[in-house]
Amino acid sequence: MKARMIASCVALQLLKLHLLDAGIRVPLNVRIKHDRNCDRLNAKKPRQFCFVKQGGQTIHCAAALEVVPEVIRYAVLLHELGHIISNSFTQVTAEIDTDSWILKNVPESGYSYQDVLFDGVEVNSIQTVSPKFIMKLIERYEIFTENDQILVCNRRGKTDGVKA
Ligand SMILES: [Zn+2]
Repeated sequence: MKARMIASCVALQLLKLHLLDAGIRVPLNVRIKHDRNCDRLNAKKPRQFCFVKQGGQTIHCAAALEVVPEVIRYAVLLHELGHIISNSFTQVTAEIDTDSWILKNVPESGYSYQDVLFDGVEVNSIQTVSPKFIMKLIERYEIFTENDQILVCNRRGKTDGVKA
């Protein structure tokens, strides 16, 4: 069964609006799709949640992304956006290039690797953003529903929809 990825979709829309407002060009079609291959990968490697195919705009996600602490969910999605925007996929340094892109272009996110306690288990060195960054996103943008769509809107009226 396809998982509903509502929390992840909302996080992605908030991140996209934040980047757009910061003057960073974000492909508008970037979207999230639950993918059972990601569930299988995540079962083997618990810190592996998503992948994007080279040149693609779909972030394939494991259902587990919905239930991790939001500091991880936002960081994982910011990382995937980083791959897409910086076009870092196949080179040996793709992961480092992606993280460097975030540190240089989105320093306000507080993106870093931390040990996080999750479900009573300490996960070592997993990517996180700061809770303050998430609070700011939620305060700055409005999230509302209309005709079964979750819409995210900023004060200037740009909207971005998510099918609920
Ligand atoms: Zn990566």
